[in-house]
Amino acid sequence: MHAHDPKLSADHSNEIGLYAKRKSVFPKAIDGPFRRFKWLVMAVCLAVYWGTPWIRWDRGPYAPDQAVLIDMGNRRFFMFDIEIWPHEFYFVAGLLIMAGVGLFLLTSAVGRAWCGYACPQTVWTDLFQHVDRFVDGDRNAQMRLQKAPWGPAKIARRALKWSIYLLISFGTGGAWIFYFADAPTLQHEFWTGTAAPVAYATTFVLTMTTFVLGGFMREQVCIYMCPWPRIQTAMLDEKSLIVTYKDWRGEPRGSVKAALKAATPLGDCIDCMQCVAVCPTGIDIREGPQIGCITCALCIDACDKAMADVGRPRGLIDYCTLENAEREKRGQPVTPVLRSIFHPRTLVYLGVWSAIGLALLFALGQRARLDLSVAKDRNPEYVTLSDGAVRNAYTLKLRNMEERPRTYRIALQGLEAGAIFTDEMDAATAARVLTVDVAPDTTRQLRVYALAPRGSKPADFAFVLAATDKEGGSDLAATTFTTAQGNGQ
Ligand code: SF4
Ligand code: SF4
Repeated sequence: MHAHDPKLSADHSNEIGLYAKRKSVFPKAIDGPFRRFKWLVMAVCLAVYWGTPWIRWDRGPYAPDQAVLIDMGNRRFFMFDIEIWPHEFYFVAGLLIMAGVGLFLLTSAVGRAWCGYACPQTVWTDLFQHVDRFVDGDRNAQMRLQKAPWGPAKIARRALKWSIYLLISFGTGGAWIFYFADAPTLQHEFWTGTAAPVAYATTFVLTMTTFVLGGFMREQVCIYMCPWPRIQTAMLDEKSLIVTYKDWRGEPRGSVKAALKAATPLGDCIDCMQCVAVCPTGIDIREGPQIGCITCALCIDACDKAMADVGRPRGLIDYCTLENAEREKRGQPVTPVLRSIFHPRTLVYLGVWSAIGLALLFALGQRARLDLSVAKDRNPEYVTLSDGAVRNAYTLKLRNMEERPRTYRIALQGLEAGAIFTDEMDAATAARVLTVDVAPDTTRQLRVYALAPRGSKPADFAFVLAATDKEGGSDLAATTFTTAQGNGQ
């Protein structure tokens, strides 16, 4: 009965939506030094990503010949001459820490350069935006097509564009799996339908995420999803390089025509909106530093071009520290860019980053290529033989990290009256030193028995592993010998 009572109708006109509606961004093509640098970085990033799994690396007949390989099956990580075993995972952890500190270092030195040039989201979004221009034309043509009603021409263009998106996405998702298996073999298996299901599943998931994130979500990822801009914003200070609109020089803004008619002189900004038109995240840098600015510097290229067209000096929008911006505003001399880049915080990050790198290199140079670990049988801890001798059993793991077979000597250190033998030997032939072969790039598990004569006391002792070849190398694993009198301590 009250449905049409105006007093009872809800007024939603002033409500703020929970989610901001996406404003489509149609960045205009621009040329300039920063755009060319972006091209270069994009080419290098894509070449590295797509090319790396195809680089071959000769490690001899017993190891894979792929330069970079994450071999999940054998639990190895190969990177050129470096091979990381599971027990050496601290190297990978070290590299990840270096990558994290490296991002802090980069942000401290040159602001959000990672976001602007090398982040995969930036690189692939940029790539897709070039596809847009290739298929639909530049900014104005794209905007016209967006507004145009659906018809055969629009459907055909969209179908072509999304097919190219899909092709790039498939190439991206498909390339990832080649890091985890021999690339030529996996490629053959993939196309003949004989690859592992996980290879197809991974390719599908990565294809779809690239298609959606790079093709459609684009700047939304940077502005709403990625945590890195928030962290970086907290890290920026007055010495950080950011892309700045020099409002003290540009304001009050107005077109060249308006400037001619104005009673008082206008600033250098001719309000041509080119900085906004080229921005891949669709923001207006003249409104001040903001989270949506990935510091790609394309607006610098656009504004420099606008300034050149009206015969004014470049740099109305420029890379600048907030400190220098304030100085410039007050007419004071500015700090040279290099000093801004290498300020104390950057040097501290550089020091930490280099220290971790050097420590990893040192550890890499020092690491042994063989390894021994021992596990003593706990049940039973010892066995008394008919002649009164005491026997303890151990499982030895002999690791050969070389890409060639090696012969090792296993010797007893301590347990003076003791001797050792294996399952393949007779106890009567037990000796203080055994010789065993270990295949390349493997861990050999060996049951070893230590034998001590009647009346022997419990003791601490060690197995010593030593390579017999000229490269040598040794390792030692301490353990105990148990008798009826207890454990060695
Ligand atoms: S405001 Fe300029 S630097 Fe920032 S994202 Fe847009 S074009 Fe790039
Ligand atoms: S490109 Fe330069 S001149 Fe044109 S609107 Fe932007 S800041 Fe002003």
